[in-house]
Amino acid sequence: LLSPDGRIASTIFAEMSALAQATGAINLGQGFPDEDGPAEVLEAARRAIADGINQYPPGLGMPVLRQAVATHQQRFYGLTVDADREVLITAGATEALAATILALVDEGDEVVTLEPFYDAYGGLIALARGVHRTVPLRLPGFLPDHDELRAAVTDRTKVILINNPHNPTGTVLPRETLELIVELAHEHDAVIVTDEVYEHLVFGVQHIPVATLPGARERTVTISSAGKTFSTTGWKIGWIVSTPELVTAVLAVKQFLTYVNGAPFQPAVAVGLGLPESYFRETAGTLQAKRDLLSQGLEKAGFDVTVPNGTYFVVADAAPLGYRDAATLCRELPALAGVVAVPISAFCSDEHAGEYASLVRFAFCKKVDVLERAAAQLARLG
Ligand code: PMP
Ligand code: GLN
Repeated sequence: LLSPDGRIASTIFAEMSALAQATGAINLGQGFPDEDGPAEVLEAARRAIADGINQYPPGLGMPVLRQAVATHQQRFYGLTVDADREVLITAGATEALAATILALVDEGDEVVTLEPFYDAYGGLIALARGVHRTVPLRLPGFLPDHDELRAAVTDRTKVILINNPHNPTGTVLPRETLELIVELAHEHDAVIVTDEVYEHLVFGVQHIPVATLPGARERTVTISSAGKTFSTTGWKIGWIVSTPELVTAVLAVKQFLTYVNGAPFQPAVAVGLGLPESYFRETAGTLQAKRDLLSQGLEKAGFDVTVPNGTYFVVADAAPLGYRDAATLCRELPALAGVVAVPISAFCSDEHAGEYASLVRFAFCKKVDVLERAAAQLARLG
């Protein structure tokens, strides 16, 4: 976790946002929206502060939010969840991931993830002194090969950690792959940890929570967060949904990480989770139009684009433009096109980064005029 000279190596997102600030380039690097989310949700947080909801909430999180998480699971996925025993509120999905991995993974235990993987996964597995095994997502389509998935999961596997919809590729995992993951988890007695922070950001396909598959629920920890769904990435309110036993195990760690989180944001997120279906549909629809705008711009600029089915991100191959090394391109991109993006190699193990060397991730969770400007500037590359 430290760079060779002993300094903390900053995350790729912090580095790229700093580059955008220093150069004045358009920041399509770090994934955060540049517009506020629903007014009702923002107003509910202001009201909570005014109403004096400013002291430590209960350890599991405020009952109103735990109930809203349970109701949301029932409304969207048909899952019956006990708000008092099967939900835990966390400091974003990041703390949910941290507490879950620290609770489940002992030194030498193996954790299987897809690759590329969200950067925190590598860091957290290292903190737990676990062993990280990966299953590659490759072009075309960024889907895992089922034989490679089978080969990666063994009796040494403690956790299969999936991210669906997937950052950075935008892949939404098909039902057959999820079924295989459940089968492998049973066969090798592994726990499935599923990071579904982009659950509502899917475009014309269905998001299938792995916990809805037969036999999955009793060995799955589902993680999500308000950040993406309500455009409140700075609020850092997330949650896990799991069995009472697994929630207790994760709480045992969580109580010493942050104890509890952001009291006034919790009733506000509860309001968000209760918004009518039209909010969720329109949020995805708006984002889909932005996906198309940026994808077309990248294609026009000469990139080879894999149009994603979900998330905030589109992956573009810079090889057709003559760039074999996306890390170098991303450092030069502010000067070349006034845009910041993230190389996919930042989401890879050292061992496999080379296989993804010419790929770049662009975030499209930005205002239409910002994306239009970025697309026009990127056209200079061609
Ligand atoms: N998982 C994935 C896949 C993410 O992309 C992110 C960040 N956006 C997180 C977890 C962290 O979420 P949070 O900000 O709620 O901690
Ligand atoms: N999840 C966001 C991304 O992938 C950023 C989160 C962060 O800065 N750690 O860009």
